[in-house]
Amino acid sequence: MDLGIAGRRALVCAASKGLGKACALALAREGVDVTLTARSADALEAAAAEIRAATGVTVSTAVGDIATEEGRAAALAACPAPDILINNAGGPPPGDFHDWEREDWIRALDANMLAPILLIKATVDGMIERRFGRIVNITSAAVKAPIPILGLSNGARAGLTGFVAGLSRQTVRHNVTINNLLPGPFETDRLRKTMEGGAKAAGRSIDEEMEARRQTNPSGRFGDPAEFGAACAFLCSAHAGYMTGQNVLMDGGAYAGTL
Ligand code: NAP
Repeated sequence: MDLGIAGRRALVCAASKGLGKACALALAREGVDVTLTARSADALEAAAAEIRAATGVTVSTAVGDIATEEGRAAALAACPAPDILINNAGGPPPGDFHDWEREDWIRALDANMLAPILLIKATVDGMIERRFGRIVNITSAAVKAPIPILGLSNGARAGLTGFVAGLSRQTVRHNVTINNLLPGPFETDRLRKTMEGGAKAAGRSIDEEMEARRQTNPSGRFGDPAEFGAACAFLCSAHAGYMTGQNVLMDGGAYAGTL
């Protein structure tokens, strides 16, 4: 299927690795020029070079922490008027809520709620004027089924989800949609890192822990970031203009509810 977005411009946040990079690559394969952001320049330039070589589109980069004002300013300077915005950042650390102080909550809110909201604020009016916009927020399956040790993530992402539920109904009239993609376990650096605690507690290697966890998923595996990128590209396509305010879960069937 031709997604009908060749020649569009996308700002893809937190995209030197993992799910963000997979989204950028899937969009670039559709002929979208992409701007990638991340904090570490080396991995960011390597990802940009890889996407450029694989697709031939224009790829630019902006180094910076997207949870900060400076990081967002750098991203918007590199891509001032995106047609497509993919919001993403690293997830907050796991832990026990008794140990979290106000500063811990502010950090989680900055990265996983306020950064996406402020980037939407900076870009959505231009999208409305141009009568095309696609915004996808990478959130988490934990929005639908909260994971107790990820309380910071559960809380911050639920805040973003509530905000988007309202705004997405106001923008769709102008062909600007806002949706959330909710990853369950996908094979990325982040997932490997989150398995460290479980592996240690169970007295097994990370690879053994990963394999045990794969087997608990109904699909018998973890998701491939390329699958996530493909779903993201569809949500950004010309064909998805009637789909807004949705929380699209990709978890291999782990969430067992009917709705
Ligand atoms: P990942 O493989 O660790 O990649 C994270 C990417 O984001 C890297 O490019 C990293 O580069 C960049 N990044 C992190 N924090 C940033 C910041 N503050 N500003 C700019 N760039 C930043 O992670 P992932 O698995 O793709 O996860 C992406 C998001 O999905 C996270 O919020 C994660 O919690 C969520 N999620 C993932 C899974 C999963 O199974 N993978 C499941 C549920 C939810 P730098 O470090 O250089 O900045």
